[in-house]
Amino acid sequence: MKILKFGGTSVASVQSLQSVIGIVQKEKANNTSIVIVTSAIGGMTNLLIKMAEDSAHGNFDENDLVKFQNKHFEIIKSLVEITAQNPIITQLKLLMNELEDLLQGVTVLRELSFQTKDLIISYGERCSTLLLTKILNQYVGEAEAVNSSSYIITDSYFGQANVDEKVSFKNIKELVESKPNKLLVFAGFIAGNKEGRVTTLGRGGSDYTAALLAAALDAEAIEIWTDVNGMMTADPRLVKKAFSLHNLSYTEAMELSYFGAKVIYPPTMSPAFKRKIPIVIKNTFQSDFKGTRIQFESEKTSYPIKGISSIKDVSLVNVKGSGLVGKLGFSGRLFSLLAKQNINIILITQSSSEHSITLAVKHDEVDKAKELIDEEFELEIQAKLLEPVEVENNLGIIAIVGENMKQTVGVSGKLFYALGRNGINVRAIAQGSSEYNISVVIKEDDLSKSLNAVHDAFFNHLNKTIHVFNVGVGNIGATFLNQLEKQKEYLSQNNDIEIKLVGLSNSKKMVFNEHGVDLLNWKDELNNSELEANLDEFISIMDHFNLPNCVFVDNTASSTLPKYYKQIFESSISVVTCNKIANSSSYKEYAELKQTARKYGIDFLYETNVGAGLPIVSVLKDLQMSGDRLLKIEAILSGTISYIFNHFKGEVTFAEVVKNAQELGYTEPDPRDDLSGVDFMRKMLILARDAGYQIEAEDVTIDSILPKSCLEAPSVEDFYQSLVDENEYFESIKLKAESEQKVIRYIGVLEDGKITISLELVDAQHPFYSLSGSDNIISFTTERYKERPLVVKGPGAGAEVTAGGVFADLVNLSSIR
Ligand code: ADP
Ligand code: ASP
Ligand code: MG
Repeated sequence: MKILKFGGTSVASVQSLQSVIGIVQKEKANNTSIVIVTSAIGGMTNLLIKMAEDSAHGNFDENDLVKFQNKHFEIIKSLVEITAQNPIITQLKLLMNELEDLLQGVTVLRELSFQTKDLIISYGERCSTLLLTKILNQYVGEAEAVNSSSYIITDSYFGQANVDEKVSFKNIKELVESKPNKLLVFAGFIAGNKEGRVTTLGRGGSDYTAALLAAALDAEAIEIWTDVNGMMTADPRLVKKAFSLHNLSYTEAMELSYFGAKVIYPPTMSPAFKRKIPIVIKNTFQSDFKGTRIQFESEKTSYPIKGISSIKDVSLVNVKGSGLVGKLGFSGRLFSLLAKQNINIILITQSSSEHSITLAVKHDEVDKAKELIDEEFELEIQAKLLEPVEVENNLGIIAIVGENMKQTVGVSGKLFYALGRNGINVRAIAQGSSEYNISVVIKEDDLSKSLNAVHDAFFNHLNKTIHVFNVGVGNIGATFLNQLEKQKEYLSQNNDIEIKLVGLSNSKKMVFNEHGVDLLNWKDELNNSELEANLDEFISIMDHFNLPNCVFVDNTASSTLPKYYKQIFESSISVVTCNKIANSSSYKEYAELKQTARKYGIDFLYETNVGAGLPIVSVLKDLQMSGDRLLKIEAILSGTISYIFNHFKGEVTFAEVVKNAQELGYTEPDPRDDLSGVDFMRKMLILARDAGYQIEAEDVTIDSILPKSCLEAPSVEDFYQSLVDENEYFESIKLKAESEQKVIRYIGVLEDGKITISLELVDAQHPFYSLSGSDNIISFTTERYKERPLVVKGPGAGAEVTAGGVFADLVNLSSIR
């Protein structure tokens, strides 16, 4: 014997009912004896509740009843033979009339008792049972509807009645045994009290009906047919990467469903567990898929947890007081008070040192809970033994569940790291003593972000998603986006990383797409976007998305963007940038940014601030962190100046070399921006600060390459003329170098916390002598590298290498390692 339960979506459409017919036919063909349970058509229970409540408020809308009726009629018209349609429609009409009378009664009385409400919502299952029976009669044969309220007997706790198993099992057994040749279709969810009044088993209760039948009939399995591929690692509506679980223990399924996995109603587990009847959750829309088997033993998987579930609409009730909390008998009194009033406590945490108990309850019960506690402990509150109850609203709970957790160390560490790294504040924590579950209370707005972050952290065979918000699509930005596109496949296959570009802006437009802007088509998406660029808005939309593993990439040279970094860090979003402005303005700003990034535990990566893609910032960091002591840095960090001096030899004049460099695109529009040494100075400043020196731009000594007249020339044209006028000065340097068999180098030195940048003539022994083209070079003299310094050399400018450096920072974010 097998019990097949079909959920709301399984009976909601012609297509789904055709699958149901197929599933039942297959069982019959195999000669399996089956009993069927059905829910109301999806959405109908909610509609009935709405009609009942509207009636009680005197604003019942007849269209709702028409909607309810039509939903059933449409299905009959499509699936039942024309000749058989009329009797069913008449039977359904009778039920609708009864329902209408009831609603009218409520409208007149303006009163809706729990008892009446149960009666009204029972029409959902009554109608669906009738419908499914008639359909199965036509396609499978000999089906008969069973009004469960006459067989499943409960107390009178309307809304969520408690079943008298002994009586109910006997009734069920007798009925089923008396009809061996019938295909019985039980109404799920509904039951009846001893007086014959209709009760219900709690929302989602049809699953429970199926388990009761299975227990009564000693069935070999319960199949729960629904609209997803079984129980999944998380709610698939909230976590796109959720995947189905092959197997769960009753306890695991119980914990997951108790903490929100709606796919199965928690009480279902109890009758099945007692008789070790397996529950199999299957997908009506993909009936061949194996689904999830819930059984006694939990089969091991390679993950420390089985799944993550979540509940919203949660409130916390804090009871505090040094005079009572923690004392013998107090918690007993508190909990029984709430239990007596049927307030369901979802989670409890207690702190003895702080003399407080924190309870999580559903939001709609919190006012009542507060009132009850304040009333019960009125005298104690007056005597200041206890403080008035505090309530916190708009919360949610996420829970990680799995029996494996017990044997695995570091599970909670992983959970809290994922939450902390994403800036999610934990309001309360509970871990059951069984260690099957760790639950955390967080802000409701953070639920989706937390679920996804925690899912990524635990199920690490799946691609970990990095959500990128990029500003700047100039030379570097555009190259960076193209590199992302090219490398996408490789990262996914070899590193389990998925990079999703969620937000993109240039100075004119911005565009957002939670599913990822198309990297092949970002230009069009950006240009066609209706959103005008606006940094304030960009940052606020990025915040609003509230995505896990989020990074802001600044691919501009703008001085405005760095003003937002602090605020971005405070939203727990990392920053990767090639923009030097933030780190080279005042020391105070630099220090504040570093401190904020550390406080929020996120990354601030800027390798490309110095020497483009060359590993310079990271080498310095590694040297420092591994305990080496920096003695001296010598560097050439201006590609433009390198180029100029490497070509300033022989017959050629200085003015010609500069002009040539400009024509080749090596200089800024005004070459003095390079030749003034300011950009070089900024890089040295950043290195000095990273090396631990509290230093400002004014403290740097720069020897100018250019004579005063060149620096002061009013236009670029005048500047070139001034270079010609000063030719003698430049020639004298060149001649001196050549006569001494040296080369001209513009070298920055950091030593004893002081930076100097000056023109030097170096001979062939010097490591910087052989520098060619526009290369950068840096030598670190340290305690460990004293005899022969550590040297990094290579191209220190250009879009490809700079974008590559930004990209490397991105994949080096600690959140994805
Ligand atoms: P039925 O009407 O068949 O009883 P329900 O709507 O009650 O179906 O439950 C199925 C729904 O549960 C799924 O459509 C899915 O959105 C939701 N759900 C929530 N958490 C989970 C989970 N962990 N695994 C699978 N489904 C889940
Ligand atoms: N129809 C009921 C509900 O919507 C019972 C169920 O679907 O299991 O809650
Ligand atoms: Mg359900």
